[in-house]
Amino acid sequence: MRNIKIKGLLFDLDGVLVSTEHNHFLAWKSIADQYQIPFDELDNERLKGMSRVDSLKIILQLGDVWISEHEFNDLLHLKNERYLNSIRQLSQKDLLPGVLALLNQARSKNIPCGLGSSSKNAKAILSLVGIESYFDVLIDGNMVEHPKPHPEVFLNGAKQLGLSPNQIIVFEDAESGVKAAKDGGFYVFAVGNLHIQNSADAFVSSLLEFNLDEYV
Ligand SMILES: [Mg+2]
Repeated sequence: MRNIKIKGLLFDLDGVLVSTEHNHFLAWKSIADQYQIPFDELDNERLKGMSRVDSLKIILQLGDVWISEHEFNDLLHLKNERYLNSIRQLSQKDLLPGVLALLNQARSKNIPCGLGSSSKNAKAILSLVGIESYFDVLIDGNMVEHPKPHPEVFLNGAKQLGLSPNQIIVFEDAESGVKAAKDGGFYVFAVGNLHIQNSADAFVSSLLEFNLDEYV
């Protein structure tokens, strides 16, 4: 990652800009409990970066539970309702360390920023934590056909930024997201999650450690 010059930044949302991991866990746990499926924080790790549909499939598999498509869709809806209720309290103080400083640094250097998130609530969350205006481009789970680890979400982001992947750094905290970005041809910084540092190009424990000056 030396001597690389980039022209744009793409961010995953959950675990990179803001942490709603625990809110997701509690909402999924309430669903798992309904079916007496054992589900703990470690199981929850497997859902990181996964779409809602795939997450529910994994949970049901954990309990060997089979349900109708109708019930499946009801559960997706119910999980989201419980999750949304719990994140209404999010505010700027829930931003992860270094986020605001980096966004301001990018703005001052005219480096455009985009969001590439599997979350279908990405826009609402950005607005709750007060950083929506920093993003020139927003690609969320509603706008892609293929969720991560498919690179579509980041490739769409690059396209909308008018840049090619090798001009962009992607920040990711999940295995599926790192794979998506690597397969798309981006430079990838793993954030916070030591388990994925070898799959990425570089690692920072939080965005506080990232200095944009070195890459522009
Ligand atoms: Mg994430």
